[in-house]
Amino acid sequence: MLLLMIDKEMPIDIVMFADTGMEFPEMYAHLEKLDTYLYEKRGIHITVLRAKHSYEYLMFEEPKVKPKTIENRIQKGIPLHGNGWPGIRVRWCTGQLKTHLITKEVNRLKGELGAVNYVGIAADEAWRCAGEKYPLVEWGITEEMALQICYDHGFDFGGLYRIYRRASCWCCPFQRIGELRNLRKHHPELWARLRELDKRALAQFGPGPLGQFKQNWTVEQLETRFAAEDEQLSIMEESQNAYND
Ligand code: SF4
Repeated sequence: MLLLMIDKEMPIDIVMFADTGMEFPEMYAHLEKLDTYLYEKRGIHITVLRAKHSYEYLMFEEPKVKPKTIENRIQKGIPLHGNGWPGIRVRWCTGQLKTHLITKEVNRLKGELGAVNYVGIAADEAWRCAGEKYPLVEWGITEEMALQICYDHGFDFGGLYRIYRRASCWCCPFQRIGELRNLRKHHPELWARLRELDKRALAQFGPGPLGQFKQNWTVEQLETRFAAEDEQLSIMEESQNAYND
C-alpha cells in the first residue's frame, strides 16, 4: 500500500510500524531498506512504536494487579506474574504490543490534525475493514497482487514469503504446524529460542493454557515430531539411493 501511495503521489505525513521485538531478522532488514526508500522519496522516516515492556517481560514478568485475577490465580496455583503464552481467549500480545499503541497514536493525530488513517488490508481480506481508509481494497488489490507489487519494486523481504505464508512474530503460537516445521528448518536459531521460551513457560506456569505453546502441543513435542519426520525421510532417501545403485 505504501509503495503504491508513493507512486500515485498521495500525501503521506507519517508511516507507523508497531514493533513487537519478535519479528524475523529479515523483516527488520526489510524495514531498514523500506525506511531508506521512504526517506529518498518523501523525506520522512518510519515511526517505530514500541510498548514500554518487551514481549518476554509481558509473558513472564508482568505483575498481576487486578484483585479478581490474583484471587483466580491463587486458587489455581498459577504464579502472580506473567501472562504466559498468548491464547485464543487471552491474546494479550496483539493488544499490548500493536493495536493499543497504533490506536492511541492514530487517535491523537486525528484529534490534533484531522489526520486520515490508511491501512494496508488487501481486497481479499476486506472483512477486516472497520472505519478507516483501505486503498488496497478500493483498488481491488489482493494479498498475492500486493506481494508481487513489492517484488516488482525490489522488496523481497529477504525471501520470507517464499518460505512462510505469514511472517509476523516467529514465536506466534497461532502459526500452523507447517509454518513451525519451516521455522525449525530455515531458522534453527529462532527455533532454539522458541524451545527456550517453551521450557521457561512450562516451568513457570505448568501444562495449562498459559504454559503450553499450542492447545495440543508443546514446542518440545513438536521438536520430537519433526525430528522423527526427518529421520523417516532420510531412511526413505537412503533406501531410494540403495535401490537406484
Ligand atoms: S503475531 Fe502472534 S504472537 Fe505476534 S502479536 Fe500477533 S498474535 Fe501475538
